[in-house]
Amino acid sequence: MKTIVALGGEGIGVEVVDATCELLAAAGFPLRILTPPHGEAAQKTHGAPVPDETKRLCGQADGILFGAAGGPASVAVITYLRWQQDAYANVRPIKYYEGAHSPLANPHGIDFVVLLENMEDLYPAREGDLEELGRAMPELCDRIGKRVNEYDMGRFAVKVVSRRGTERIARFACELALKRKARGHAGKVSCVTKSNLLRRSDGFFREVVEGVVAQYRDLAYEHFQADDASRRLVRFPQSLDVLLCMNLYGDILSDLAAEAAGGLGMAPSGCFGDRWAYFESIHGSAPDIAGQGIANPTATILSAAMMLEHMGLASEAQRLEAAVACVYRAGKHLTRDQGGTATASEFCKATLEALG
Ligand code: ATP
Repeated sequence: MKTIVALGGEGIGVEVVDATCELLAAAGFPLRILTPPHGEAAQKTHGAPVPDETKRLCGQADGILFGAAGGPASVAVITYLRWQQDAYANVRPIKYYEGAHSPLANPHGIDFVVLLENMEDLYPAREGDLEELGRAMPELCDRIGKRVNEYDMGRFAVKVVSRRGTERIARFACELALKRKARGHAGKVSCVTKSNLLRRSDGFFREVVEGVVAQYRDLAYEHFQADDASRRLVRFPQSLDVLLCMNLYGDILSDLAAEAAGGLGMAPSGCFGDRWAYFESIHGSAPDIAGQGIANPTATILSAAMMLEHMGLASEAQRLEAAVACVYRAGKHLTRDQGGTATASEFCKATLEALG
């Protein structure tokens, strides 16, 4: 028996995690599911969005499943699960399931991974006032020589690219591509930057990645500027295998890719550190549809499948993914985003039946 901690987060996150947990329990997988307090409710009852007891349970669990973040209290949960745990590798599989609602004429065979570096670039949000930056770095100027202290007022955000941080995500990308190659994929890393404009920061990321990839003789490699990558995701999605991105580009491209493959409601993810992992859908709390029971739980179910595989329950993970694929192929119990009328719980019931 393995233990998982399920944290719904906010909005539809709560709905899809509840529905997924019911499915996992009914499937008879060897799991004990814990749902400790977190987010806004915990802020009220325990004075903190992630109480110590919740942290202790997460630390001891075999797997952690998160729903979605929205407001500050649920973002604090992500801050704990992702940034405070140094979960640097954000794996976002993009896969077309027969019957899914892709806007592309030919989505067949789309099966790749967007891999985001989580800890550097812009998203850990190192922000401040331009005035402070101007005082600290009076010589800092842009490509036309305008100094930071020439702006009257404003804000800045710091983009960080370190050698160590880049090397470890590049190694992660290569190991992932090797694993995928062993399962029949191309064995290719495609690195995404804007090295043509951000020569020192993105250019350095690209250079370090290329140094690491060169040590993996069995892998193919290519580099795309981020704007070109967005075009290729739509035009040639079947040509991709592991798309390695800094977090801002990766976040945007993975939403685009998810939509191309069938929809945001279908896209799972896992964030990995050296001794830590947690799993969540890539979508947010979707306030526009929260509380109606109509959210698509697929992204969370597939995130749970990734979690099961990581926990050593590979056959349960495969069965769960196959059941989801079966529901899409049959097309009778799809949610509204997929052109159907099923609720999240009806979709889960159909998945349970497909599990056999
Ligand atoms: P975040 O910035 O936290 O990623 P967001 O504001 O970009 O969030 P989401 O909450 O991810 O946006 O939702 C974007 C849109 O996609 C919403 O309008 C929502 O209706 C739709 N959507 C997202 N997830 C689902 C889902 N699981 N099922 C159905 N529709 C979804």
